[in-house]
This record gives sequence, C-alpha cells and structure tokens, in this order.
Amino acid sequence: METLILTRLFPEEIAEALNLEPYRGRQIFRWLHKKRVFDVENMTDLSKELRNQIAEKCVLVQSQIAHIRESFLSDTKKILLKYRDGQFVECVVITHRNRVTFCISTQVGCPLGCAFCATGKVGFKRNLNAGEIVEQVLHLLSFVDLGKKNPNIVYMGMGEPFWNYDEVTRSIKLLMHQLGVNIGARRITVSTAGDVKGIMKFADEDWQVRLSVSLHSADDNLRSRLVPLNRKYPLNKLAEALHYYQEKTNRMFTFEYVLLSGVNDSLEDADALLQYAKQFKCNVNIIPWNPVAGLNFQPPSKEACEKFQNYLTQGGLNATMRREHGQDIEAACGQLRRIFLDSTQNCNHHQ
Ligand code: SAH
Ligand code: SF4
Repeated sequence: METLILTRLFPEEIAEALNLEPYRGRQIFRWLHKKRVFDVENMTDLSKELRNQIAEKCVLVQSQIAHIRESFLSDTKKILLKYRDGQFVECVVITHRNRVTFCISTQVGCPLGCAFCATGKVGFKRNLNAGEIVEQVLHLLSFVDLGKKNPNIVYMGMGEPFWNYDEVTRSIKLLMHQLGVNIGARRITVSTAGDVKGIMKFADEDWQVRLSVSLHSADDNLRSRLVPLNRKYPLNKLAEALHYYQEKTNRMFTFEYVLLSGVNDSLEDADALLQYAKQFKCNVNIIPWNPVAGLNFQPPSKEACEKFQNYLTQGGLNATMRREHGQDIEAACGQLRRIFLDSTQNCNHHQ
C-alpha cells in the first residue's frame, strides 16, 4: 500500500483515506496545519489505536530544516529544507515594519532557465507536492512572532508555479483553509515567468489570489534571451492572456522587472515597458538584480534604478522598487541552496 502523505490532504480526504469519521479528519488536519504538531504521539485527543494506525500508514511531515541563515542587514531569515528524498529547497521569511512575508518554492530547481536566475542554473529536479509546499509555511511560522500581524505569502521562491499547477493550487487552498493556517486569498501572490496556459487557468479560479508576472523586458528579442519561455509565449500572446485575466477577474496584477545594468535598464527599455504595461490595470515592481556568482550580469546603480522608476511614474504607471532584503544571506531565489550544496560538495571533496 502506498504511504499517505498527510500534509497534502484536506480534512475530508484524511478521514476518507483512513476510514474515519469526518471530525477525526478535522482533528488531524488541525494538529498538522494549525498547531504544527508533526509527532503523532503528541496528538493527544486521538486514541492510542488511531495513533498507531496513523504512524503505520502515513507520512506526517516530509521535510526537515537543514540550515538557517539570518540576515544582519534586515530582519530576514532564510531556511533550507531537506525533503525525504534528500532534495533541498529554500524559503524565506521577511519581517519589515508591520509586514511579515513568507517566500516559498514550488519546484526543486526550475525548468525555465532564465539567464539571470540562480535557480535557473540548477536545472529542474522535480515538482513539489502540495504538502511539501505548505510545510515551508508551517516551518517558517515557528520563526516569527506574528502577534496581530497577518502574514503574506508569495510564491516567488524556486521554480515556476504554473508548471506545477495542480499541486500549487492545492497548496493555496490548504493554506486558506479555516482549520489550518487560514490565510486570506488577497494575502497570497503567485508569480509566473509568463506561462500563458497557467494564466488562463488562474483567471478561471474562483478566488482573489493575486498574480505577478515576471516581465524583465518588453522587447521580444531581449526577453527571449532573458526568459527563454518567451520563445513559446511571446509578448503578444502574454498580453492576450493578461487581457483575458483582467476581463475575467477585474483585478490588478503586478509586472516584476529585474533591472540588469546595461541590459534592460535604459530609458528606451523603460519606454517599451511603459507602452506595454499601459494597456493593463497593473503595477510595476522594479527589482535591482541580486548578484549570483558565476552569472555575467551587473546590478544597476541606484541612479539608474531611480531614473528608470521616475520615467515609469511620470508616464502614469504605479512603479515601486522592491527594497532589497537579505542581500547578505543570498536571499535571491536559489542562491542559498547553491552555496550550501557547493560547500557540502567541497567538504566531501576534502574528505
Ligand atoms: N518562476 C517564477 C517565480 C519564482 S522567481 C517567476 O519567474 O516569476 C521570483 C522572482 O525573482 C522573479 O520575478 C524572478 O525574475 C526574480 N529573480 C530571480 N533571480 C533573481 C536575482 N538574482 N535577483 C533579483 N531577482 C531575481
Ligand atoms: Fe525559473 Fe523564475 Fe528563475 Fe526563471 S526566474 S529560472 S522562471 S525560478
């Protein structure tokens, strides 16, 4: 019999899979997702017999913390998780004034290979299941004192969420579940490199989860170099999908734009972005590139960032600049994993 992975199941599915009364499913779900208790022996309102049955048939938690890095420059912690098959992903918690943001991964590595991205360099290992995605939030919750703060969740860690669509949407529903973490839909953002099929499906979902689209260039030639997915879904196809999204949902979305010095940060680039973005009700979020060892790009100067931002703002766009958090802990996606693996490989080498 296949082992049951409990953290990816809803209460009713848990009850059904274990042949229990519905309320039992809710109890177990609450232990995992609300109380974050992963040792069945500590689930005190379950009988000894039921605890034994669960221990025998189920996997309660699929991940453990392998490494923690704390930023000294900002209140950012980056956690490296190790899954049962030995694969690693990273997730980050950023505390800034009154906001707590969890940044989580959806895949081990990423198949899309964007030119400037550390995760892209890793290549693709595998998809995460919904339980593995949710467990990142469950672990991160133990690192913050939320008090009255409502956390935000951004799907901006390793991987392309829409290339793991079903498990990603399942994980969102699990995180929104009232008996669990109970996050409001509007506090969740999914970021895609521009997967048109995924955007169309996302538009049809009956919820208010937010969408971000990583654009990085409004010129097809340049964008195809930076984001190879653009060769499959060029800017006009992306625009069609985004129009569909807005007609269907009537919601704003955000364009993410990583600024790379001398590559996509000129005023012509800003103008192309302005013209492209103007056709939508959207915000633009400018992200100064976070250096990745071995990649041949340069972060933009502060002046270049400001000029770029001002151009957009003067053109009537709402353009913000993402404040960099955790640069000293390699907080850009995929970087901690690489450094950790590199250093463990080096260790092995010396032994
Ligand atoms: N695959 C999805 C979500 C994960 S990447 C996507 O591409 O949208 C999340 C964001 O981090 C993307 O906007 C991506 O372009 C950005 N990013 C990747 N590497 C970066 C780096 N080195 N510095 C700054 N931003 C980076
Ligand atoms: Fe994948 Fe996003 Fe990195 Fe591109 S930027 S390689 S889509 S994780």
